[in-house]
Amino acid sequence: MTLEDNLEDNLEDNMKVPVSLVRCAAYKPDELAKSLSEAIELAGGLELTGQRVLLKPNILRDAAPERAVSTHPEFVRAVIRYVKAAGAKRILVGDSPGVHLGDFEGRGCGIRQVVDEEGAEWADFRGGKREYSLQHPLIESSFQLTKILDQVDVVISLPKLKTHQFMFYTGAMKNLYGLIPGYAKAGLHVKYSSRDDFAKMLVDLLQVVKPHYALMDAVVAMEGPGPGNGFPRSLGLLAASRSTLAIDLVASRLIGYDPYSIPTNRHALGVLDGINGVDDFELKGLSLEEARPAQFELIGGSQRGPLSRFLMRFRLFRKLETRSRPTPKFDPEKCILCGECIAICASRALSFAANADRQRYVKLDESKCIRCYCCHEICPVEAITIEEH
Ligand code: SF4
Ligand code: SF4
Repeated sequence: MTLEDNLEDNLEDNMKVPVSLVRCAAYKPDELAKSLSEAIELAGGLELTGQRVLLKPNILRDAAPERAVSTHPEFVRAVIRYVKAAGAKRILVGDSPGVHLGDFEGRGCGIRQVVDEEGAEWADFRGGKREYSLQHPLIESSFQLTKILDQVDVVISLPKLKTHQFMFYTGAMKNLYGLIPGYAKAGLHVKYSSRDDFAKMLVDLLQVVKPHYALMDAVVAMEGPGPGNGFPRSLGLLAASRSTLAIDLVASRLIGYDPYSIPTNRHALGVLDGINGVDDFELKGLSLEEARPAQFELIGGSQRGPLSRFLMRFRLFRKLETRSRPTPKFDPEKCILCGECIAICASRALSFAANADRQRYVKLDESKCIRCYCCHEICPVEAITIEEH
């Protein structure tokens, strides 16, 4: 029996930390409220009397809800209402996309309007940060995180289920990378440029933050070249768990990955949420068979064998792995010369240049590129593509 088979069996039989999967066909308030209550109840409930709660949606970019780049605003509204009814005394909602000039308003994705309408508080993570440290890290012992964390008792991750060019999949764990304000995120991409090192750093971040719960928006997910430029894919699902790791193991398997091929899942086992393996959690509600979509378009290259995983323990091989990944390609026909890719590239691999006709274009220095794909995530007009060899 393979590890994957083992996961599949145990997801449907045993276990301790519940992860729920329920149907929710559309972003309609009544349907969302009903499905969310069901998902949370199956996941063991959520008692928040007197608590100060930070809701952290995924706002990768301030894009319109129908693009499926961000957690849907109606999902956020349903969560605010649930959290209020569960007794929370203060509800903050916020995120910090990699690039935004000045204060981030979150109006393009519709979340700010929902926050105001529901009487919650908007939290701009650029309002201040401080150092949070960890005694026994996998790789990173210190993080500069939003000071908003000092004002709350409970952090709830509200991810959108998406593919991710760099990490293959993004869900409840990766979503919390946004607690690092603005451009500072790009610096950690330079420091940890291999997928394994970056995943370890994310696991350390999770050890610092200790999120209380995860509620996943998979009503419409993103497939193909995510997380910024993929294609919306209707799944009609919500998921809930007190474990960000358990929900990510289930969601990544649901869309067709071997969950252990996802670097964040692999490195979090034995570290987060008391989950050492598949025997430590159980699936409630829908089974994977009932919920699984047909032919979800994944990111290629995730299926790494045991030898390759072993070699990744060595710095030289991690560097070679980075170099073997494709570099971004820029389409001058689509490029509007906004400069956001240049601003976010912490490796300084990008600059404006001019061709013989004096037309400006974005120039890539491949020798500096660490294949983090932040430029691809941030480009507002899909002028950047990542093509697997
Ligand atoms: S060019 Fe793009 S992929 Fe390369 S280092 Fe810069 S942001 Fe990352
Ligand atoms: S490639 Fe995209 S992000 Fe970069 S300058 Fe052009 S439009 Fe802006």
